[in-house]
Amino acid sequence: MVPEEIVPYLVEMTGQSDRVGLIAHLVKTLNKFTSASQVRFFDIHQKAIKGGQEGKLQVESVLVEPLCPNEEVITMDSLPGLGKLIRQTSHLFMPFMHIKSGENEQLLFAMVEGSKVHSILHLDSIHFTTPDEMLAKLFWDMYINLERTIRAKDQDPLTGLLNRRSFDETITNILDVNAQIHEINRAGGTGACLAVFDIDHFKRVNDTFGHAIGDEVLILFAQQMQRIFRVADILYRFGGEEFLVILLKVDAPMALAALERFRETIANYRFPQVETVTVSIGFVMVNGQDFPPELIEKADKALYYSKENGRNQVNNFDDLVQNGRIANIERSTHDEVEMWD
Ligand code: GH3
Ligand code: MG
Ligand code: MG
Repeated sequence: MVPEEIVPYLVEMTGQSDRVGLIAHLVKTLNKFTSASQVRFFDIHQKAIKGGQEGKLQVESVLVEPLCPNEEVITMDSLPGLGKLIRQTSHLFMPFMHIKSGENEQLLFAMVEGSKVHSILHLDSIHFTTPDEMLAKLFWDMYINLERTIRAKDQDPLTGLLNRRSFDETITNILDVNAQIHEINRAGGTGACLAVFDIDHFKRVNDTFGHAIGDEVLILFAQQMQRIFRVADILYRFGGEEFLVILLKVDAPMALAALERFRETIANYRFPQVETVTVSIGFVMVNGQDFPPELIEKADKALYYSKENGRNQVNNFDDLVQNGRIANIERSTHDEVEMWD
C-alpha cells in the first residue's frame, strides 16, 4: 500500500519533461520518504583516457552525476566501495541489489540496456526497511519507463546521439547560457565551439559494402565521438552521415586540438570490412553575437573548405576568413525587417 502523502510526488514525477528534472525528482522523493542518508544517481560512460607510461589512450568506465553537470568525471577507483560494487553489478547485469555489509546497508539499482549498465541509483543507510525497499523499487521502475519516453523523443535511434529536433529545441538555451559564461570568463578565454562533421565519400561505402555495413560505420563513428569528447560536450547526429558537436569550456586552440584528435582517431580506426574512413570538419567559436543558423552556416563553410581542399582535415571559420581563404558571411540584422523599398 502506497502512503497517501506520496501520491502528489508520483503525479509530479509523470509531469517531468526532461531527464535531469526527472532524476532530480527521483532523488528528492527517495531522500524524503526512505531512511536513506544519501541518494546518488550516476551515469556510466566509456571514455578514452590518457594512461600508461606512453600516455596512450585507454578506454575506461567513468561515473558522472547528471545532477552536478560542472563536476569532472569520477573514476571508479575514487569511490572504492561503490566503484567495486558497480564493477560487480556491471559484470552480472543485476538490476537490483540490497547489500548488508558491516554497519551499513545499500540499495543499488542499475539501468541495463543490451549488455551495458547505463546508470546507477545508489542509496545508503544504517538500515532499510521493507517499505523503504518497495518504495525505492516503485520510483525506480517509474523512472525507467519515463526516461525511455523522454529519450525516444530526443535521441537518434541508430547511433543513440541526440537528434536534430533536440538541437533545434535546446540550442538557443545552451548558447545563451554559454554567452553569459563567456562574458564572465572573458579574461580566461573560456567559450564554446560549434563543429560540423561529414564523413568523406560515404556514398562509396554504401555502394561498395551495402547499406547495413554503412549503418555499422555510423554506429562505430558515433561511439568514437562519445569516447573522445568530454562528458559535458553535446553530440548530435544531424542527419545521414553528418554530425554536430558543441564543445564547452574551450578556446579556439583547445577546440582545434580536440577536433584534430578526433579526426586522427577516425583516420586510424579500423572499421570492419570497410577498413578506413575519414572525416572532414569545420568549426566556429560561439561569439555571443551570431544566432544558431549563422553559426551553422559558418561551420558549414569551413567544412566545405575542408572538403574542397583534400578532405580528412579540420578548419576554423575565423582563421579561414582572417587568412583570406574564404569570404565572411553577411550577418543579417535581426531587429530590422525590410519589406519594401
Ligand atoms: P563527401 O566526401 O563529399 O561528403 O561525399 P559523400 O559520398 O559522403 O557525400 P554525399 O552527401 O553525396 O553522400 C552521403 C551518403 O550518405 C548518401 C547516402 O546514401 C548515405 N546515407 C545517408 N543516410 C544514411 C544512413 O542512415 N545509413 C546509411 N548506410 N547511409 C546513409
Ligand atoms: Mg553529407
Ligand atoms: Mg559525406
